[in-house]
Amino acid sequence: MDALLTALVVWLVSNFGLPANFDHPRIEFVPATRMTALLQEEIGQQKETATSPTESDAEIVSLYNKDLKTIYLPEGWAGKTPAELSILAHEMVHHLQNVGGLKFACPQEREELAYKAQERWLSLFGHDLLSDFQMDPFTILVKSHCFF
Ligand SMILES: [Zn+2]
Repeated sequence: MDALLTALVVWLVSNFGLPANFDHPRIEFVPATRMTALLQEEIGQQKETATSPTESDAEIVSLYNKDLKTIYLPEGWAGKTPAELSILAHEMVHHLQNVGGLKFACPQEREELAYKAQERWLSLFGHDLLSDFQMDPFTILVKSHCFF
């Protein structure tokens, strides 16, 4: 896993200009039901910088906790498909944003680059967010922009 995370950091830093950091997050594998509970805890705490509720819709595939510097991946995640790896790439964007101390106007704003990186990663394999995650451009726009 460490080598994979290092490779992802290098890819994210060189493609998206994120601040490099090789102090990797913890990775935990949790059942889907636990994922929902974790998200609700975050929202319940009403922290400005908590894990973005934009990832709460429908099914939560993964989460990043900035305080614990932990990425939660779904049980059964094996990192064997472009889609699985793209989830990790998405959460690694949040980790680098966090440890790099980047500031955002709203939680959604953090998602813009995360989705962009995820889409770029998928495109390397001829995949995209629409076919792999049923996320169309409008959905992504809503999830990744400040509207108030
Ligand atoms: Zn995200």
